[in-house]
Amino acid sequence: MSCLPIRDNRNSPPVTDPKDQKIALMGMTLEQLTSQMNELNEPTFRANQLFGWLYRSCVDTFSEMRNIPNNLKQKFEKKFIVHPLEVVHVTGSSSEPTQKFLFKLQTGEMVESVLMRDGDRTTICVSSQIGCAVDCDFCATASMGFQKNLSVGEIVDQFILVSKASLTRITNVVFMGMGEPFLNYDRVITAADLMNHQDGIKLGAQRITISTVGIVPKIKRYVEEKHRYKLAISLNGSSQVSRLKTMPIAKKYPLDKLLESIDYFSSRSRHPVTLEYVLMAGVTDAKEDAHKLLDMLNGRRCKLNVIPYNEIGGKYSHPSDERIETFINVLEKAHFPVTVRRSKGTDISAGCGQLAVMESAA
Ligand code: SAH
Repeated sequence: MSCLPIRDNRNSPPVTDPKDQKIALMGMTLEQLTSQMNELNEPTFRANQLFGWLYRSCVDTFSEMRNIPNNLKQKFEKKFIVHPLEVVHVTGSSSEPTQKFLFKLQTGEMVESVLMRDGDRTTICVSSQIGCAVDCDFCATASMGFQKNLSVGEIVDQFILVSKASLTRITNVVFMGMGEPFLNYDRVITAADLMNHQDGIKLGAQRITISTVGIVPKIKRYVEEKHRYKLAISLNGSSQVSRLKTMPIAKKYPLDKLLESIDYFSSRSRHPVTLEYVLMAGVTDAKEDAHKLLDMLNGRRCKLNVIPYNEIGGKYSHPSDERIETFINVLEKAHFPVTVRRSKGTDISAGCGQLAVMESAA
């Protein structure tokens, strides 16, 4: 894949005039492309060709589609565009391990993704919504409020445009950017299916992680629909009382119901669920919390990912190294794997929970 020139287009107008908006092909499934071709009275095989150009060759223009006749390319140009997003700014250079991408939607709003390199792994953290309705007290995205659900195309295009700019092939996707993926469930699943599609991007299902704050009915639906993507759940508290302190959603979906849904997932999935636990100084980092986690999770099939808090200028702070170590030492008795995630990109506000678009389209 070629590299995108890094430009600063923050003040440029939206990609198309919203009144005269063309339809973005990125994000369409093969079935949707087929019905578009039917509407144009074109044969079905054109849909397969388009699918390949969009998701395998990742072209930016219709003129690059070599097996499409010129008169059809012109028809396409009148009705469609390839990308629903435009890269407007990249923070961090391509030689750095972490870069943050700012995109503009056709409708003018902004959204962010983060690209992280670590050894052989290149991971993109994608957003599923602009802003977030969940209102976790410690998360920067919450301060934006909820603005909108991203479309399938706007989610998949983050992957496509970032892969074109990345010097290394993207090996993993995490739905841990802005928003709550399970409150935009259908589109997130369709986007993951497109990333996983054998005739397209072809990313293995276990290389795609969907992280949810714990929307219990959607976790059950996810299990029932037998999706094979990795599931991560933001626990962030060692008891119902502790969860409620920072996550108002715990009132609607209390810890006992969340644990039931986790057990339901474990009973049906070959892979363990990952539980994320943000360590906030003086709030979730006590030795006692670690003991409560052990009691809660020993005997359950899971992995625990401990994330020391990334500061966002609010009331919570990063725990001291000593507190982190004491907490982790207690967890040595765990019967489940425990990892500590040192967030990447905190210097450019690209760490977990630090994404919040501060600029708006001109
Ligand atoms: N809404 C989803 C995904 C977005 S946040 C979810 O809640 O899972 C991705 C992860 O970052 C979550 O586990 C969240 O708890 C964590 N997080 C949020 N703000 C953070 C911060 N400031 N520092 C560290 N982790 C944070």
